[in-house]
Amino acid sequence: MHPMPKSNNTNWSRPQEYVGSSGATGRESVRIVPIGGSGNVTKNMYAYEFRDDGILRDILLVDCGIGFPDADMYGVDLIIPDVRYLEDKKQFIRGLVFTHGHDDHIGAIPYIYPKLGNIPLWGTPLTAAFANLKLKERKLSVRVTPVDFQTTLTIGRFRVSFVRMTHSVPDTSHLIIETPIGIFYHGSDFKFDFDPLDGKKSEIEKSTAVGKRGVLCMITDSLGSERPGFTPSEQAIRGSIEKELALCPGRFLFTTQSSNISRIQLAIDVALASGRKIAFFGRSIDQNVEEAFQLGYMRFPRDMVVRDREVKNIPPSKQFLIVAGAQGQPESALARMANDNHLHVSINEGDTVMFSADPIPGNENSVYIIIDELYRRGARVSYTGISEDLHVSGHGSQGDLMLLLAAVGPKYIFPVGGTYRHLMHYRTLAMDCGYQKKNVLLPGDGDIMEFRKDAEPKIIQHITLENIMVDGLGVGDVGSIVLRDRQTIAQEGIVVVVVPVEKSTGRVTSEPDIISRGFVYIKESGPLLSKAQKLVIDSIKTKKGRVMDWHYMRERIEETLQGFLRKETGRQPLIVPVILEV
Ligand SMILES: [Zn+2]
Repeated sequence: MHPMPKSNNTNWSRPQEYVGSSGATGRESVRIVPIGGSGNVTKNMYAYEFRDDGILRDILLVDCGIGFPDADMYGVDLIIPDVRYLEDKKQFIRGLVFTHGHDDHIGAIPYIYPKLGNIPLWGTPLTAAFANLKLKERKLSVRVTPVDFQTTLTIGRFRVSFVRMTHSVPDTSHLIIETPIGIFYHGSDFKFDFDPLDGKKSEIEKSTAVGKRGVLCMITDSLGSERPGFTPSEQAIRGSIEKELALCPGRFLFTTQSSNISRIQLAIDVALASGRKIAFFGRSIDQNVEEAFQLGYMRFPRDMVVRDREVKNIPPSKQFLIVAGAQGQPESALARMANDNHLHVSINEGDTVMFSADPIPGNENSVYIIIDELYRRGARVSYTGISEDLHVSGHGSQGDLMLLLAAVGPKYIFPVGGTYRHLMHYRTLAMDCGYQKKNVLLPGDGDIMEFRKDAEPKIIQHITLENIMVDGLGVGDVGSIVLRDRQTIAQEGIVVVVVPVEKSTGRVTSEPDIISRGFVYIKESGPLLSKAQKLVIDSIKTKKGRVMDWHYMRERIEETLQGFLRKETGRQPLIVPVILEV
């Protein structure tokens, strides 16, 4: 490793090779806006802003990924970045570049694109292909332009070139972003796989070369910063698949993330060597494999792959099924098979199911439910909870991270792609490499960092970022109030009170009807019910005798019942008062 530049390193103070045609002036600045939220593993989206004298000139966007809902975000399918900050700056957005084809980097584009105006999109070929599948699916006509690793794009005042990196999907890139005030290195997800399945190694020479020119700031993956050493190659899994397969007299089911094309290829290689026929189950795997195959990123003889409905004509001992649903998604092919509810496959004694993925935090329960069901069907299940060598991370460990840091040797480091503890571990790592604390930037969620040529970077503005939730066809219509109601209903139940009121007089015509779900079985709670009914009537009686303000009436009922039920049952169900005009 070559010596690490410190903040006052002489190496750094020599003039920049690229300072734009006019040369940098002290008035120029670049801001990094973490739109997807830094301190976040998923939902990646960043804006680079070039400003002259504070006046916004150009915006370059990097990535547009989805996030996954927390367990208490009931019914929410996915989360997308909050782009409200960009709303009044659309005319300055010059384009968007994707770093690689994982959903947390490309998945939100069909939702976000309509809000960005008609901007060009770029990505390496497989990245572009995967993103285009998503755009097609949502019936958008725009397409990502594929570019190779030799391309340099001029996007406003930014010049963007690509560095090939290894990860768990082919064509992963880091970006070199040259600006009039200095060079930024956008190092998203990676690991150094020294024996990649496709033979295409990380172009560390490019990282080193740009490092020699002087990099002002490096954004870097930090997710593996707790793990010592180097992350093993994808090839490390091969032996495990072979071992599991050797123990399997029946059909073999292999499940992993559907974008993990390298892992799927590895499974295919093992399947072919064993002479088993391959079948794919799940739309996402099907589409991704087809796309990757067409573009030459996967190789297998077509005649070894059979269609899903043909599987039943093949003896189980000759089947190798690659199935979507490694995260326990309830609608997935694997979940349907586990519940004996799949059209073409039923799991039996002698079958093996191999999970080659770690559950995303929050998904553990759904994964274990499926594992239980698979056991009930008689299958042998191997998963990361009981066996270590079924999965390797796509993210670099401390060794990988330090190697990149040594190669690029930026003046400032901006770790991303991890939760706060990962960022802190990364900072320790960087300080072990000779960096000063102040050169590791840890802006908070929504903090905008400004860089100038001859000044310390600083937080210039804070933007409030919200989780924009997608539920079914609705985008952003599930807000915090809807979510809070869903949480209350899930945890405490719901009580509906129907009060019949004479429209002209405001007189309550009969006993209120109280209906509940998920609270108590109210028909068997007679005393509670009659007390509640009486309270409701009392609450809307006033000295004058009648209330005509329905809104006020509903509030009174809600308040009264809430207090009463909390006292009587210790629960706080969602109360829905309905005034029925008769
Ligand atoms: Zn990734």
